[in-house]
Amino acid sequence: MNIKPDTARGYEDPNSYDAIVIGAGPAGSSAAILLSRAGWLVALVEKQSFPRRKVCGECIAASNLPLLDALGIGLEFDDAAGPELRKVALMRGNRQVVANLPSASNDQYAWGKALGREVLDSLLLDRARLVGVHVLQPWSLLNITGNVGNWHCEIRAQDSGVVRSLLAPIVIDAHGSWEELPFARRRENHHAVHRGSDLLAFKANFRHATLEEGLLPILSFDGGYGGMVVAADAMTTIACCIRRDRLKAYRASAPSLSAGDVVEALLKRACKGVCVALHTASREGPWLATGALSPGIRLGTNDGLFRVGNAAGEAHPVIGEGMSMAIQSAWLLCTHLLTPALRHADEIAWQRGIVHRYEAEWRREFTPRLRLAACFAHLLMGPATAAPTMALMRVWPGVLTLGAKLGGKTRCAVDMSEMNKLISQLPMSAIKK
Ligand SMILES: Cc1cc2nc3c(=O)[nH]c(=O)nc-3n(C[C@H](O)[C@H](O)[C@H](O)COP(=O)(O)OP(=O)(O)OC[C@H]3O[C@@H](n4cnc5c(N)ncnc54)[C@H](O)[C@@H]3O)c2cc1C
Repeated sequence: MNIKPDTARGYEDPNSYDAIVIGAGPAGSSAAILLSRAGWLVALVEKQSFPRRKVCGECIAASNLPLLDALGIGLEFDDAAGPELRKVALMRGNRQVVANLPSASNDQYAWGKALGREVLDSLLLDRARLVGVHVLQPWSLLNITGNVGNWHCEIRAQDSGVVRSLLAPIVIDAHGSWEELPFARRRENHHAVHRGSDLLAFKANFRHATLEEGLLPILSFDGGYGGMVVAADAMTTIACCIRRDRLKAYRASAPSLSAGDVVEALLKRACKGVCVALHTASREGPWLATGALSPGIRLGTNDGLFRVGNAAGEAHPVIGEGMSMAIQSAWLLCTHLLTPALRHADEIAWQRGIVHRYEAEWRREFTPRLRLAACFAHLLMGPATAAPTMALMRVWPGVLTLGAKLGGKTRCAVDMSEMNKLISQLPMSAIKK
């Protein structure tokens, strides 16, 4: 076996690592921090310079707060994030239903909060650097060759164009899902064929909005859904998804407007709550867009790579659980990678065993969220289903509370006792970091 956690640092080949992680979103940085703290030599390759804004509703569910603490950014997150999210609303047309969000059982981490990705992702990446991760940024993965136990990752510096080859027995794909990896065969043509039903995602930040602090409204409109929240520094974030065919039709009626402006006008028209909240607001920066989204599970490829975060699977963002799944899937994988009892003299058998366990666990924990999110998303987007859904919620607003609970707002997929055991096993030198 190539991995020697206690002696890995000091390999003679400067391009050789115990693990290479692709992508420094919440999934990649979490995985890199955990492995590095256990003494592994880790390279983290990120193509963009940070801080960078990103399309995201920016709500971190309460279930992740103990994990952020254990990763070493709990205090910074708490200081920087917006107010505690205690209520959820559903807004459509002139109507609005409000319900309580469920609180997590641990009083210390009872409520989720929102924080801009330009801050959250930088906090995690800075932490990764601090614990010894070798961060290559802005470097982009070009190609992966080799096989389990002996991977070669070709990467290119975004600014100078210099190309390097990194070697490691393990590669963790955390590159998200909204950009194609140059060599990816399994999703070939995914973005090449445009379908009317494709979901395009948008996000913008607003100052001086009047959205109630601590309220998390879900927006429903024909052909899409979205959310609003007060995040850090009283900045309101609006993020939404809209079908390509609906956006095209809306744009045709306002050809002089940018896609973002069309989306903003649509949201104000379709949800009175947005119009009221943004009445006095001014937008900070441009609308960001990404897509098409591809909700679904991407595990089971049998190509020997480990996948975490959106690279492993993606729920419709209507439930705002993507970052939970990113951070928690990284934990699940690393728990297996770091469990001494699972070690096997045969590198390939060891990695295959872990893929098997991790993927089974991933499906058990996250597939129900994906299904719930898909169901809710389609109910809210469909003109024929959205009105009855709204009517149901008005009679039983508790369904919103239950939906948030089932969607994972308070349930952490990571076994806390396993996590504590893992941390107590880390070498003292790693803990001091
Ligand atoms: C409209 C919308 C609203 C959302 N709202 C929420 C919410 O409120 N709460 C929530 O929890 N989730 C939300 N999500 C989901 C959340 O944004 C994602 O699930 C989350 O970002 C996934 O994290 P990740 O680490 O897997 O991937 P990402 O955050 O996408 O990070 C991947 C990283 O990999 C890098 N990368 C890509 N290709 C390469 C390459 N070739 N080489 C090197 N680096 C590469 C990228 O630059 C990026 O930094 C929302 C999503 C959308 C679309």
